[in-house]
Amino acid sequence: MLRVGAVTACVGIFLAGADFAVTALIGNQTARQLGELSSVALRRSEAAIDSAGVILNRLAIAGGMDCGENALQALRLHVYQGTIIKDIRTVDRDGSVACAAYPETLEFDNGWARRDQMFTSADGQLRLFQVEQFTGAAFGVLRDIDAQRSLAAILRIDGNLLDVMPVGLRAESHVTLTLPDGEQVAGYHPDASAKPPAQTLAFSTTSDRYPLQATIHVRPQSLSARHDMAYLLTMLAAGMLGGVFGLLLASYLNRPVDPVAELDRALAGNEFKPYLQPIFSLRTGDVVGCEMLARWEKPDGRLVPPMSFIPLAESSGRIEKLTWQLLSTALRELQPEMRRDKLFKLSVNITPRHLLGDSFIDDLRQVVASSSVSTRQVVLEVTEREELPDLDKATDVVKQLGEFGFRVALDDVGIGHSGLSYIQRLGARTLKIDKFFVDAITRDQSAVVVVQMLVALARELDMSLVAEGIEHQAQVDALIACGVEEGQGYLVSPPLSLPRFKQFLEVRHAVTGAAQIKQPELAA
Ligand code: C2E
Ligand code: CA
Ligand code: CA
Repeated sequence: MLRVGAVTACVGIFLAGADFAVTALIGNQTARQLGELSSVALRRSEAAIDSAGVILNRLAIAGGMDCGENALQALRLHVYQGTIIKDIRTVDRDGSVACAAYPETLEFDNGWARRDQMFTSADGQLRLFQVEQFTGAAFGVLRDIDAQRSLAAILRIDGNLLDVMPVGLRAESHVTLTLPDGEQVAGYHPDASAKPPAQTLAFSTTSDRYPLQATIHVRPQSLSARHDMAYLLTMLAAGMLGGVFGLLLASYLNRPVDPVAELDRALAGNEFKPYLQPIFSLRTGDVVGCEMLARWEKPDGRLVPPMSFIPLAESSGRIEKLTWQLLSTALRELQPEMRRDKLFKLSVNITPRHLLGDSFIDDLRQVVASSSVSTRQVVLEVTEREELPDLDKATDVVKQLGEFGFRVALDDVGIGHSGLSYIQRLGARTLKIDKFFVDAITRDQSAVVVVQMLVALARELDMSLVAEGIEHQAQVDALIACGVEEGQGYLVSPPLSLPRFKQFLEVRHAVTGAAQIKQPELAA
């Protein structure tokens, strides 16, 4: 799933990036090429004007342009020999046409520019103007013969612009040649009557010899590189690269995480939370305290049970920080309730390694002192499941703890390997009877015998007893019959988060004389 997601995301990102880069690159290149093509169009037009200028020059210098038959024949000869000159006319200074090589072409004219509407070439020799004809605009080039008369050549140079554009773009583009007033004097588009569409990109070159500008108009879509072979190949390569990158990313994300680093991150992020399970009087149902049980609230909402991280926290040396973090939070939050009910006790599980650590007592005293809760209200549960590595030292620590007011409880009693002398030596003040015996007490007489024996031992040593894992009223009755006074279990409540535990206490407080042990609203 992760692999598919990473590959899909990477292919998508690589394709989008490649599309952007290739489109920009090919688009820029095409724009530069179109700029060059507009200067090709201009150079061709300049060459056409040059050749018309040479002919007009030759005729003017030869003289005899008097509209006589010889003069007209000379004009016709030049028109006949040329390809782009369609007519040559003699024009008076007032602008009227005196005579034309082919007078019938005058019928095609719609208008004739006045001298002051013409544009002069850089060398001052020629004047350029638009000749409006009903077949479209033609291009006029005028040269003065003397102070009264001039010669004007009518050119059609649209054909010169025909093959400027590459075949692929020809149908999508317009090539135009314009005078400084914007009037078009030549142009090429497959559909001769079509004007350049409004939404176009224009690439222009202006002549420094003639008052002319050549412009290529193309639709932006025509510049799109998407149908290009180079584009397709690049996209294919980008897609493949994205796929490979995605697989690498997926294997990186899938790498096994370092569990100790995870613990440190969770500790820094305060993801471990104290959950509290009430300890109650079996006879009255009164809550006399609670046991703090760790939970890992993962950012994704998962709740991880303590057996999945406590052993690692212990072996990696994180158990101390974890325990103090949870205990400070629990004491801070429960301080009002614990100060109100001085008999309420908070039990905390302590691993053997932590208990025997150098600074355990000092650290514990500091944490409890900063919460203004009495040390007499804090119980330290030490499990009997594993043997304490150094019983002498443990006995000494338990003794010192007692001197400071703390109580020590021996957890999971009955299933460990310790005998009666061990229980006696350690100096614990409470025994917690393991759930194993509570489960069996209603159906197995030997469990009843073990519990009765533990009750007798507790009385002998002046210890209190708590039975764990009570799920049924019948177990409560059997435990009372054996002489056990306190217990905990799902019958009353599972371990609760701090806010829910405080709420539990409030509700419990309101139900006075709690004849019924079970807490209907909050029990699991
Ligand atoms: P434990 O100290 O023996 O805690 C009692 C366990 O029994 C808890 O499991 C509790 O949720 C569960 N329990 C209580 N009542 C019932 C019941 O009626 N039925 C059933 N089926 N279970 C019940 P939890 O919270 O999963 O804790 C497991 C163990 O993890 C604890 O056993 C304790 O040894 C350890 N642990 C929990 N929190 C801490 C901690 O903060 N520090 C240390 N060092 N160990 C912790
Ligand atoms: Ca415990
Ligand atoms: Ca236990």
